[in-house]
Amino acid sequence: MMTIWMKNVAGAEHEMPAGHPEQIARLERVNAALEGPEFFALDMHHAPMAGEADIMLAHPRAYLEGIRRVAPSKGMISLDPDTSMSPATLEAALCGVGGCIAAVDAVMAGEVKNAFVGTRPPGHHAEKTHAMGFCLFGNVAIAAKHALDRLGASRVAVVDFDVHHGNGTQDLLWEEDRALFISSHQMPLFPGTGSASERGAANNVMNVPLAPGSGSDAMREVYANRILPRLEAFAPDLILISAGFDAHADDPLANLNWTTEDFVWLTRKICAVAERVCGGRVVSSLEGGYDLDALAEAVAAHVSVLMEQ
Ligand SMILES: [Zn+2]
Repeated sequence: MMTIWMKNVAGAEHEMPAGHPEQIARLERVNAALEGPEFFALDMHHAPMAGEADIMLAHPRAYLEGIRRVAPSKGMISLDPDTSMSPATLEAALCGVGGCIAAVDAVMAGEVKNAFVGTRPPGHHAEKTHAMGFCLFGNVAIAAKHALDRLGASRVAVVDFDVHHGNGTQDLLWEEDRALFISSHQMPLFPGTGSASERGAANNVMNVPLAPGSGSDAMREVYANRILPRLEAFAPDLILISAGFDAHADDPLANLNWTTEDFVWLTRKICAVAERVCGGRVVSSLEGGYDLDALAEAVAAHVSVLMEQ
């Protein structure tokens, strides 16, 4: 069965201030990597824009209205010190959500095995009523709600291996007892949340902080012994991945020392759990990753594993 690649065209036009690490070149490099000959078998689709009802699965209407109100037709505005909007940003952010939802639809319908959503802005720092950390809408949390509320999924798990804590996804799913949110992340690091004591309203959140300077062995140990067993025991109908590649050793924003081979190992392990509990249904959406070479290489490796399934 095939793997879908949801390509976000507006995502490659979403401008941030000069010198910002969350730059257009990130998605250009990801797109170029996935256009290579080894990816001809990918089922490429253009990510559609999400509608208001989609956003409101996880954010209040007033928040969406506020974002629409300030969206610039030229120039750039700041939502917070890290997060800006240019004329293409609203469409890019809505296509990130829409791409995740369309990917979930295809995977849940059994049309394809799994999917990768290549998108920016990322989503996992966006809280219910706050854009932050380069993120506007909770792409993956909204996709989880979509599967639960509209497609009849009983349980959905989110695995967030971005190097930063997925505070936004945690906020959006905190009271959702049909979802299990698991985040591994460097601590201390932005955004400062994600201690192991944050467990969700229904013990549905698992935070696994990793020490700065730790690497492959520490990552594989916590995944093999704690995270993957918890994921499998939850027996979700769908596994969503917040796929950030900023835990890579070359990344300028963090200090974990993961290798591209670690992302391959991790993707294989998550897919193996998916195979055992939910027919292999996995939807992965791009979050961070700020060293352009490492990002392109790690995304290519991650998507290659999805295609092996
Ligand atoms: Zn990150």
